[in-house]
Amino acid sequence: MKTIQQESTAKLLDGIKVSAAVIECVRESIEAHVGKGGRRPGLAVVLVGSDPASSIYVRAKRRDCERAGIRAQDFDLDAQTSQDELLALIDRLNDSPDVDGILVQLPLPPHIDEPAVTNRIHADKDVDGFHAFNVGKLALRQPGLRPCTPRGVMALLHFYGIANRSMHAVVVGASNIVGRPMALELLLTGSTVTVSHRFTRNLEEHVRSAELLISAIGKPGIVQSEWIRPGSIVVDVGINRLPSGKIVGDIDFSSAAARAGWISPVPGGVGPMTRAMLMLNTAEATGVGVKMPFKAQPTG
Ligand code: NAD
Repeated sequence: MKTIQQESTAKLLDGIKVSAAVIECVRESIEAHVGKGGRRPGLAVVLVGSDPASSIYVRAKRRDCERAGIRAQDFDLDAQTSQDELLALIDRLNDSPDVDGILVQLPLPPHIDEPAVTNRIHADKDVDGFHAFNVGKLALRQPGLRPCTPRGVMALLHFYGIANRSMHAVVVGASNIVGRPMALELLLTGSTVTVSHRFTRNLEEHVRSAELLISAIGKPGIVQSEWIRPGSIVVDVGINRLPSGKIVGDIDFSSAAARAGWISPVPGGVGPMTRAMLMLNTAEATGVGVKMPFKAQPTG
């Protein structure tokens, strides 16, 4: 099999480099669109409360908007904001012609029902791709606005010319925002997909059989490096903060890199790709066509 080697030191799936290339393509397409008299895309960024991790993510997204030439409009709401107040804001943003994309940073405070909020956003302004309609479209091979993290993983692979068609892909984690739509993206491009999760028996056996392994658990050490199939492709979506403050993925990078053919680091892998896809989705929601810096892969 072409992508599987016997012995390898992994090549890097560099999310910082690839996300910068994607954002540059988004920026060029937006400037060309504006140059022809089109409207500059506008993204409403809604943050409820002041969760430190969410505040960091939101700041980074606002910086990305500047780099991409997108107008960010900030809505920083008090942690006590009621669900009705948040839904009323979303209704206003849905109706506003200046707003092309709406991002509500998750997680929301416990008194707010997240699906009620994500499904209230108009499907064609749903740049996070969390609305049931958009996930349904992905499931039916009619992708519209697609969840950013799985789309970012696919962009990272395809930038490096990794063709996942016919590969056995194993996704560990089955959440609504990562694992499930990740499996749908992989199916769309012709992989044979196994989705494993907290109730899976024999996780080791599944991981050992993966030509392409995507870990999205949020706990370090569950997927062990010695399970990794030599020469395989390893994408680590997990972001975990150790007691020391250090940020690590789900998988130990150096021991996994000694076995894998390709590997994404944490930080600097999927995280920046997720944010780049938010910029891409916002451009697309505005009707700006973006030519990506890699060849599209055939659907399966
Ligand atoms: P989640 O908690 O919603 O889902 C975790 C999944 O892991 C669940 O499906 C669960 O069944 C599975 N799981 C838990 N324990 C397991 C075990 N022992 N064996 C197998 N599966 C197990 O989390 P999420 O929102 O999907 O996020 C997962 C991780 O990805 C987190 O670290 C999160 O911070 C990170 N994340 C990163 C990005 C990014 O841009 N890089 C984006 C979103 C999430």
